[in-house]
Amino acid sequence: MQQTGACDPVCCKYQNSLWLCRPFAFFAVNIFVFMNQRAIFLQHIAQTSPAPLALEITGAAGCYLYDAAGKEYLDIIGGISVCNIGHRHPAVIAAIKEQADKYLHVLVYGEFIQSPQVQYARLLANHLPSSLNTVYFTNSGAEATEGAMKLAKRVTGRTQIMAFTNAYHGSTQGALSIMGDEYWRNAFRPLLPDTWHLAYNDMASLASISHKTACVIAETIQAESGVVAPSKEWLQALRKKCTEHGVLLVLDEIQAGFGRTGHHWAFQQFDIVPDILLLGKALGAGMPLGAFIADRQLMGTLTHDPVLGHITTFGGHPVSCAAGLAGFKALIEERYTAQVKQKEALFKKLLVHPRIQAVRSAGLWMAVDFGSFDTNKKIIDHCLAAGLLTDWFLFAPQCLRIAPPLTISAEQIEKACRIILAACDAIADSGIA
Ligand code: PLP
Repeated sequence: MQQTGACDPVCCKYQNSLWLCRPFAFFAVNIFVFMNQRAIFLQHIAQTSPAPLALEITGAAGCYLYDAAGKEYLDIIGGISVCNIGHRHPAVIAAIKEQADKYLHVLVYGEFIQSPQVQYARLLANHLPSSLNTVYFTNSGAEATEGAMKLAKRVTGRTQIMAFTNAYHGSTQGALSIMGDEYWRNAFRPLLPDTWHLAYNDMASLASISHKTACVIAETIQAESGVVAPSKEWLQALRKKCTEHGVLLVLDEIQAGFGRTGHHWAFQQFDIVPDILLLGKALGAGMPLGAFIADRQLMGTLTHDPVLGHITTFGGHPVSCAAGLAGFKALIEERYTAQVKQKEALFKKLLVHPRIQAVRSAGLWMAVDFGSFDTNKKIIDHCLAAGLLTDWFLFAPQCLRIAPPLTISAEQIEKACRIILAACDAIADSGIA
């Protein structure tokens, strides 16, 4: 999603000035290693963009990343809503080390009792409504989406899957089939049949949901369209419609979960409960982990006709579960979720500039709308050069992404906003419309 240029002149200039401050020998060795790594990256790592960001990260802690040139970046995207308790929280690192000393992978998902998995599933269930009591751990968010679609088909015996325009649920072929934007889907057709897209937050669109529908999959708050929240009435009407027709409601909180919106789960503020909940990203506190969560009775359909209704080798890896368990405990014990609204308000108070057309937010999750990708891209590049890491949104390229670790301090918020506003001024000075 990053489009900041690999040979971004602002960034390169800054790096060069840092390099020149060092003794020559150190400079020579490091520039060789740096150039070498960069060349290898471009030559041997599969690229999905003509202009990857290509920052060489050598360290991370709290809200900061550090690159090979020793430059620090205040990270206000947190690995795209992953690092909710910051990079390398000490409790997470300790849990990873402790688990690594016991065992790593032992057998494919679901056969052995592995303490980190079991304990994490119980902690999640204790913090969810009683009908969301059974956890299937996966490798990723996309695999959680796949699992939920399969589960809905098994439970209902139906095939029709409804999703929404501008939805993002992952990049595997099933998840791609329900992605709400034809530009991103088209090159990969044929995709999954009987998948349909409805208008998000639109009452009339709910009429298409019927007794033929297996499930409706929605992001509780849409992420990649630039933090778009539906009305409470609409989400409640969607819940009602699904219940009336025996349709499973799947809510994707892969970005919205784990305190991001100021609640542990975004659906809490809408007073509804989904039949299946999708989690990922912050679920693993920096390690790869996803999950689909449902009632035990629903989940039981994966045990027969056929058995092994969903198979994964690494899903629920013990080290990922140990990290996630420690991370979720830290989120709860250190009370970061409760601080979100205050921090959101500070961002919104400070982010005022004639260049900024709107700031949409849902907790510590914001889309700063500059009206054009060209302006947004230039502001993102200025921010990067000034040591602030941000991004744009897949379906809202005119919007700058803010999704920092929830641990971000008031001083760090002030610093981030100062840099964004200075970038706005710099763009104005350069005469960009
Ligand atoms: N759902 C949402 C809302 C996401 O933002 C993402 C990833 O960005 C996914 C699903 C897919 O997760 P993953 O990239 O772990 O497959």
